[in-house]
Amino acid sequence: MNEVKSNKDYNPEMHSAEHILNQTMVRMFNKGRSFSNHIEKKKSKCDYHFDRNLTEEEIEQINKKVNEVIQQDLAVTEKFLHRDEAIEKFKLSQLPDDAGDTIRIIEIGDYDACPCSGVHVKSTNEIGKFQIISSSFENDVLRIRFKLPKD
Ligand SMILES: [Zn+2]
Repeated sequence: MNEVKSNKDYNPEMHSAEHILNQTMVRMFNKGRSFSNHIEKKKSKCDYHFDRNLTEEEIEQINKKVNEVIQQDLAVTEKFLHRDEAIEKFKLSQLPDDAGDTIRIIEIGDYDACPCSGVHVKSTNEIGKFQIISSSFENDVLRIRFKLPKD
């Protein structure tokens, strides 16, 4: 469950890139989506339960895949599932108490789907370009820092 922080630096492009990054991490390593993140306009970070740092090759692979998805200009759409169906389908261990009986699912083409209440771009092309700044590993946590370079 993504938590939406409504601060002045909140950025739909960054947040949408986070969805694509998470799905890319799931597909490459099967260790789940980020459990914690900090999304801001200039640069963002996502934390994953992991067992090591990434190699340079893996960082390049992730950059390549995320940018491929962005360039496909996939539509970002919402749909609503009943709470029970959402819990089953997305293996949610818990939902916020105020989530209610209807859960909002954000789909990025057929690449990603996950429950989220945040604000997103309408299609992935709006994200522009994705670039990992660095990664680090400590206490079983992999941290990926990334930006959306404008040039
Ligand atoms: Zn979202």
